[in-house]
Amino acid sequence: MDFSFSKEQELLRKTVREFVEAEVAPMAAKWDEEDHCPVEVFRKMGELGFAGVFVPAEYGGAGLGYTERAIILEEVARHSAGLAMFLMTHQLCVAAILEFGNEDQKKKYLPGLASGKKIGALSVTEPTGGSDLANHQTTGELADGWWVLNGRKCFASNSSNADVTVVTAKTGTDEKGRNVLTAFIVESGNPGLSPGRKESKFGLRVSVMGDLVLNNCKVPPESILGGQGKGQRVALGTISEVGRAGMSAISLGIIRACLEDMVKFAKERNLYGKPISTLQAVQFSIAETRVDYEAARLLTYKALALKDAKQRCDLDFTIAKYFSTEAAVRAAKRNMDNMGGYGVLNDYPAGRYLRDALATLPSAGTSNIMKVIVAANTLG
Ligand SMILES: Cc1cc2nc3c(=O)[nH]c(=O)nc-3n(C[C@H](O)[C@H](O)[C@H](O)COP(=O)(O)OP(=O)(O)OC[C@H]3O[C@@H](n4cnc5c(N)ncnc54)[C@H](O)[C@@H]3O)c2cc1C
Repeated sequence: MDFSFSKEQELLRKTVREFVEAEVAPMAAKWDEEDHCPVEVFRKMGELGFAGVFVPAEYGGAGLGYTERAIILEEVARHSAGLAMFLMTHQLCVAAILEFGNEDQKKKYLPGLASGKKIGALSVTEPTGGSDLANHQTTGELADGWWVLNGRKCFASNSSNADVTVVTAKTGTDEKGRNVLTAFIVESGNPGLSPGRKESKFGLRVSVMGDLVLNNCKVPPESILGGQGKGQRVALGTISEVGRAGMSAISLGIIRACLEDMVKFAKERNLYGKPISTLQAVQFSIAETRVDYEAARLLTYKALALKDAKQRCDLDFTIAKYFSTEAAVRAAKRNMDNMGGYGVLNDYPAGRYLRDALATLPSAGTSNIMKVIVAANTLG
């Protein structure tokens, strides 16, 4: 077993870190306060190859893997988890087309998405419940050679920004009466597609999230992704691996932000004539956060190594997502605790880290759903 990153991966991390420290860190608090989504920074990340890092060069990507994507997301999330969420959701659309698209779809969509000239989204969740994935009210019906989509999606990240959105719709029922879903690629500018209400979130602000309204949205049969009736496979395949990997990597960035800030604050804050880093209670909470970071990192990058080796990894990502997102919440709370009253001041990012960490919990599946999956696997 090799637990080290390659020289190229370390160089990528350094490049991303320099970019983020220059372009993201100084603005992160302001973007969060104003809930501003900096599309221009996303475009720059596209130019640097971050948006399509795992897309093969033949489709305009950097030709690297999902491990490199996580390195990028972790570094971006170290300073702005909201911006990382924007990038990570874009990449869900990219991954869905890369992994389930046919050659024409890959050639048509991937170059624009990989370069960051186009923004992607993946919209599955409906008001009837994200955990109850198949319970779709959105329908797709074939009429005069076109698919006509009708319904309302909710909690769609990049809802109003996206140029290309992968959406799921119910296109029939199976012999047991269960919904059969199909995934479609829908482009902005389609008169039947419009962003609905934008949600006001307390965490992972910066990234836009809202409803998506499909009102007699007509798309040609060529826009079906992954085959008619295979929408659940497209949605679950993408969310359970690429989505959970993304949320794990974002959580790693949040935990590292907490850890680094905890160390700095503990060394600078004096009580009883000496820094609070000499207090065992503070040392223990730093140690606990370090252990959480190391464990989350191992789980996340182990799952990514399996993914890049094209081995089965859905359970590994479920475990990594559950642990890393919960660990991010623990880390953010410890950071606040160690700061005393300063922890609640908006002059410090401690509150933002906690808000962002909490908002990672439901994204790509709640902690309960992760435990349901792990328990089912463990109990056989
Ligand atoms: C910041 C953010 C970004 C998001 N981005 C996207 C996106 O880009 N695209 C998209 O499609 N969706 C997105 N989502 C939606 C997300 O996937 C859902 O919120 C999530 O799947 C949970 O669905 P729900 O909110 O409807 O909760 P529900 O499914 O209604 O769950 C409610 C509660 O019931 C519990 N529960 C449900 N089923 C079980 C069970 N079997 N056993 C035990 N407990 C259970 C849940 O854990 C939860 O506590 C996003 C969500 C957030 C918060």
